[in-house]
Amino acid sequence: MSGQKKGEKVFRGIAVSPGVCRGKVVVLHRARYAIIRRDISPDEVSPEIKRFEHALVRTRQQIMEVQRRVAETMSSSEADIFDAHLLMLEDRVLIEEVIKIIRDQKVNADYAFHTASDRYITVLEAVEDEYLRERAADLRDLTSRVLDNLLNVKQQLDVRHLTEPCILVGHDLSPSLTAQLDRNFVLGFATEIGGKTSHTAILGRSLDIPAVVGAQNVSEELETGDYALLDGYNGTVIVNPTDQTLFEYGQLAKIKASLGEKLREIQLQPAVTLDGKVVHLSANIEDQHDVPAVIKHGAEGVGLFRTEFLFINRENLPSEEDQYKVYREVAAALKPQPVIIRTVDLGGDKFSSQLQLAQEVNPFLGWRAIRFCLAQPDVFRAQLRAILRASAEGNIKIMYPMISGLDELTQANTHLDKCKEELRAEKISFDEKMEVGAMIEIPSAALVANALAKKVNFFSIGSNDLIQYTLAADRTNEKVSHLYEPTHPAILRLIKMTVDAAHANGIWTGVCGEVAGDPVLAPLLVGLGVDELSAAPSAIDSVKYIIRRVKNEEAKQLADFALQCESPTEIFARCQDLARQTAPSLFENKA
Ligand code: PEP
Ligand code: MG
Repeated sequence: MSGQKKGEKVFRGIAVSPGVCRGKVVVLHRARYAIIRRDISPDEVSPEIKRFEHALVRTRQQIMEVQRRVAETMSSSEADIFDAHLLMLEDRVLIEEVIKIIRDQKVNADYAFHTASDRYITVLEAVEDEYLRERAADLRDLTSRVLDNLLNVKQQLDVRHLTEPCILVGHDLSPSLTAQLDRNFVLGFATEIGGKTSHTAILGRSLDIPAVVGAQNVSEELETGDYALLDGYNGTVIVNPTDQTLFEYGQLAKIKASLGEKLREIQLQPAVTLDGKVVHLSANIEDQHDVPAVIKHGAEGVGLFRTEFLFINRENLPSEEDQYKVYREVAAALKPQPVIIRTVDLGGDKFSSQLQLAQEVNPFLGWRAIRFCLAQPDVFRAQLRAILRASAEGNIKIMYPMISGLDELTQANTHLDKCKEELRAEKISFDEKMEVGAMIEIPSAALVANALAKKVNFFSIGSNDLIQYTLAADRTNEKVSHLYEPTHPAILRLIKMTVDAAHANGIWTGVCGEVAGDPVLAPLLVGLGVDELSAAPSAIDSVKYIIRRVKNEEAKQLADFALQCESPTEIFARCQDLARQTAPSLFENKA
């Protein structure tokens, strides 16, 4: 880059999804409201109360409009959920309290409303009754709607109904919101918070759009309508790019186009090293719409189907039948290639609105994935039955997320066995030989891998979580991203331990975390003995390109070095050296 020029401003963040785009910015929402206490004169009291009442009326109209749209597209019972919001909006006790604060304390309406509703939320959150506790979330939602109207903040944009191409900018984008992005209109996105392996970032890669996270102040300083260039290779957002900058990026686009041609040529070739080691290269998907990309990039099936995306962004849980149809569709489309379906991994940074799970202090250490499923057997069994029924296609495997030890694995398998018995009794066919795998993503699982290996057909290492749990570095927090090091010796030793335990017990091990899609790290994983790599469809070409140019012998030497080195930086530098020597064209990313 040629530095900062007049009018041009560069925001730096973390590059999470490669590519460059440019266009009009749409600012989604800002970090927080500034609710300022403003003293008002006695004459202002009555207009201020009117302003508050007007905001309530306006909010009521908006909720009814949303309710009408939901009733049109879903069932009326789902639309009834909004009745609770409308009832709260009419709660005389709350309204009187706000008016009293405005009158007695002579303060502005937004401050008065915020103070009163906050008090209510705190009380609701503290009660024993679960139903009442859940109403706290409703009230929080309602409070922001009313404050939006009081402060004249535009309603949060509906990302499903954009009308022109744009770069989305926000303080944060939740995975559920990201999953709703309209691929036709979102050129790329940038956020102020987030890490490389947050599910928001993962979705960016899966949507195959450039994305940057952790770009400080980007949503505060940019305005809707600004013109920007987003560089997902280097993690920058450049507002008002100069002609020189645009020219430099034009050059980069040419380099990338010629690399694209090289990568397309090998899409249908196998992933095999120069000295003949075959690596199974498969794809990570979120739903059935990703299947064409799996085929296009020549992936050998699906190594990770993140089924939780079938559970979020809807007002009811997907039924056994709903799920069965999706799983069967994916399996049928990819037959005979394997499809590994992971049982639902809700919690952490992925939540289902329907389940209305109470907020936890440490969601990543809490009620997540298999822990949630074992506590909710109805939800778990419906999914197990759906997967088993779809397994009649012959190419489905199942795996459990967040296994921490043998006991959880045994419990999960007991549910699976019971579902099999039910299906046999109902004379519904399924694949009696369907393989079962455990994800290794908690350090304890890697440490007891030898025992787990005796109970499953394969392992899949979830490095995204394995790294965050081993190094105690939240994968979604940009402030600790420097500690989140895939090449930390502790991580590599846990991977090696898992691979060795698997091979000693005659089973195979894959890696389906984001490291598997990184061409710098893929040779190291191969050298450590990993049998399968599963990555976002768009990442597969580059990984295959490097595997086809490296020798397994070199990969093994790299792994041997890494296993006796104590410095993550040194190990990473070695990985980079090998990757750059082997496939220099993959790394020409600078404009
Ligand atoms: C992982 O943790 O590496 C993984 C693949 O699962 P997820 O990213 O969905 O948590
Ligand atoms: Mg995980």
